[in-house]
Amino acid sequence: HAIAKWFGKGANRTQVLHDVDFHIRAGECLAIIGESGSGKSTLTRILLGLERADSGTVQFMGMPVEGRKSAGYRALRQSSGLVLQHPFASLDPTWTVERSVAEPLMIRKIVAGGSLRGVERIKDTATASVHKALQSVGLDPRIFATRYPDQLSGGQAQRVAIARAIVDEPQLIVADEPMSAIDVAARIQIIDAFAAMRQSQPDAALVVVSHDLGVVQHLADRIMVMQNGRVVEEGASDQVLMSPQCEYTKTLIAAAS
Ligand code: ATP
Ligand code: MG
Repeated sequence: HAIAKWFGKGANRTQVLHDVDFHIRAGECLAIIGESGSGKSTLTRILLGLERADSGTVQFMGMPVEGRKSAGYRALRQSSGLVLQHPFASLDPTWTVERSVAEPLMIRKIVAGGSLRGVERIKDTATASVHKALQSVGLDPRIFATRYPDQLSGGQAQRVAIARAIVDEPQLIVADEPMSAIDVAARIQIIDAFAAMRQSQPDAALVVVSHDLGVVQHLADRIMVMQNGRVVEEGASDQVLMSPQCEYTKTLIAAAS
């Protein structure tokens, strides 16, 4: 609800988000586009409760996310997944694919009250979920489960990162420029992985920050355009792509066609 965010101190203090107010419905895919520095990443971090807004509130499933002890914050942290630009940055180089993808499940089960002794039992049920997540991003678990990050291409690593983000079936998945470090040929596999995720988890909301109109076209139901920390355009994808209103959107579409 009307989020504002400043960075810096004293004379260097600048406002990077101005009264950004928006909502995401269950099952919906929202694309956020906009110039570099327009505040997209800052907004996604606030959305996930990783950073606090200076004013305004985030609500998750009807609960306000305020402070680490709030029910809203806990629900959000337990039921959200994040995919970043550089897939290798979110994968531990000493862990197999299977372990990386399983880790969110382990942590949550232990936090949810499972004892450490129960971990062995959790492992068996986790393996099934891990394999399902890998399959849904188009990676054969028989081939990839035992690999290490240095045995993966960038596109494969990004799909592992997506599997990790979706393995515990979160309500909200946020991807911040998931394609920009991936070569063109692998892009389509990432798009397919998100599309498959939307099919297998139809209630999950997906927020994708991307400059890539292909991604936006293939995935998004709605588009939000940001400029200088403000939302300058918002609407159904078809509508925004067919008749863009603001200069940034027009330029982006002109450049792609
Ligand atoms: P890009 O497309 O390049 O990723 P973005 O839209 O994600 O850009 P942000 O990363 O959200 O933009 O940054 C928005 C503004 O906030 C920028 O001017 C940036 O310099 C500033 N900023 C971001 N993080 C910090 C920080 N931790 N401290 C100070 N300023 C910051
Ligand atoms: Mg960014």
